[in-house]
Amino acid sequence: MKAADVLDAQPRCPVCSGSGRPALALPAQPIYQHPVSAEVTIPTPHAVDLKWVACADCAHAWQPEFDKMLLEQIYRSHYYTPAPDGIAVQFRSEFFTTLDRFGLTTPRQALLEIGASNGDVLAELKTRTGAARAYAFEPDHENAAVARRRGLDVREHFFGAAMRGGDIDPVDLVYARHVIEHVFEFGDFFAGLNATAKPTADLVLETPSLDHHAARGSVAPFHIEHIHVFSLCSLTRLAARHGWGLKRAEVTAPGNLIAWFARGATTAQTPTPSLGGLQEAVTRQRLRLQGLLAGRRLVFWGAGSAGACLASMVGREPDLWTDGNPAKVGKHYAGSTREIVSPQVAFAQAKSVTPDPPLLVITSSFVDEILPRVRQLGWQGEILDLGGNRL
Ligand SMILES: [Zn+2]
Repeated sequence: MKAADVLDAQPRCPVCSGSGRPALALPAQPIYQHPVSAEVTIPTPHAVDLKWVACADCAHAWQPEFDKMLLEQIYRSHYYTPAPDGIAVQFRSEFFTTLDRFGLTTPRQALLEIGASNGDVLAELKTRTGAARAYAFEPDHENAAVARRRGLDVREHFFGAAMRGGDIDPVDLVYARHVIEHVFEFGDFFAGLNATAKPTADLVLETPSLDHHAARGSVAPFHIEHIHVFSLCSLTRLAARHGWGLKRAEVTAPGNLIAWFARGATTAQTPTPSLGGLQEAVTRQRLRLQGLLAGRRLVFWGAGSAGACLASMVGREPDLWTDGNPAKVGKHYAGSTREIVSPQVAFAQAKSVTPDPPLLVITSSFVDEILPRVRQLGWQGEILDLGGNRL
């Protein structure tokens, strides 16, 4: 056996160097999880087998193999379609509420958001904190253009050590929402962060909570773009290794961990979740959903990664696919000929089919926003959430 084979047999944790054990394998997962414009044709393959291992020491889960070039290309060109204001704002509202509870929405001089999407959160935070400068790093062209129109200082590249010596004033609040789980090289990421943050800066990281999802047998955080899935323990250890101590952490109802760190703060011990039953829980969930959806005409509301992953899990696309973001209408997923249609069109077509009314699945985390719109549009049939629960 070669040395490389030995390493492959027991991968080392990228956070604490503990040993990795198989945690989850998901066959034939979608590579492109966001719909693209009608004229865009993405070459095959469109699916890939994925696996995660978990650290026996800090309960960090990660993909031992990933294609960096492919992921970079996705982040630049095939990413979230920017939504108009007022759509998909639940996570964002929860983030602001948590910042307020942590006492972090205080007067600031300079802010930095890594992975700023369309800049909606940063623009709002700039107003709330009175910051003179707000830097946004966002590699996706479509989102960066929207952020720039909000008057933000947008850098259209990936964040990392290359920031050293860059033309950025030291910042006193830096945050990254749903970014750290995508990061290829933690050393590079934190080198950039430590070079731009003031010694008294606050750091806030938001990422799916492995503790939350593992306890519920939920596969939601496990998709191609998530090289890492963090437990509170692994996120805390990672930050501590780079000089940031945990001040406070909370998990939102949909399972997002929001953690506040300060430079030089002491970090307390955190418990590690049990990941033992994850694969079995996922298999049970797949069989349950396949049973619930079998033989039914289906409408999915939510054309993002959750919808793509559900279609892959149950082995079929819905008959109609809709989304509340009008910018997604007319787009399609890689390898699919099905166009995303507006909710009005989807519901009109669904109603026209008799005698068997279709089943509506809310394939999105933003159920609380979507459900009132579903009712308002007069949907009379059955509705399920991603877990197969009736709504
Ligand atoms: Zn570890």
